[in-house]
Amino acid sequence: MAKLMNFTGTILKNLFSKPVTTKYPAEPAKYPERSRGHIENDFDACILCGLCMRNCPTGTIKVSKPEGMWKINRFDCIQCGYCTLKCPKKCLHIVPGYQTPGPEKQEEVLTKPVEAAPPKPAAPAKPADPAKAAAAEPEKKAPAPNA
Ligand code: SF4
Ligand code: SF4
Repeated sequence: MAKLMNFTGTILKNLFSKPVTTKYPAEPAKYPERSRGHIENDFDACILCGLCMRNCPTGTIKVSKPEGMWKINRFDCIQCGYCTLKCPKKCLHIVPGYQTPGPEKQEEVLTKPVEAAPPKPAAPAKPADPAKAAAAEPEKKAPAPNA
């Protein structure tokens, strides 16, 4: 009889309490603090150095300085956060919220205008080799003796 009373208590409690599950996606998901969501790039601060690309263990990030391009394939990212530690400008962050599911892998591409490289300074002229210069120069005629 005591067991039956316990069971009735559980039923009544569940009848009048909110469900533990949420109606996602109709109800937006709540992410706990410091959850590993996805990588965001504060692209204005990015100098396209490529350190994030070279240190990403899954090859998720591609950077091309000549094209002014930074791109990430979010489906390949394992949210390890290593790129955020390596970025010299601290413009990469892990923020809450996950990649929206989809049937195809999609890349997010960020671009910025490419600054023209400054012209290279002209190389200084090499000093002439005195031995070669002497060989190339026609022999100077000795001045005629005064009569
Ligand atoms: S490491 Fe930082 S500054 Fe360098 S390319 Fe990546 S995001 Fe940009
Ligand atoms: S979090 Fe890890 S896997 Fe994702 S882009 Fe950064 S380094 Fe690569």
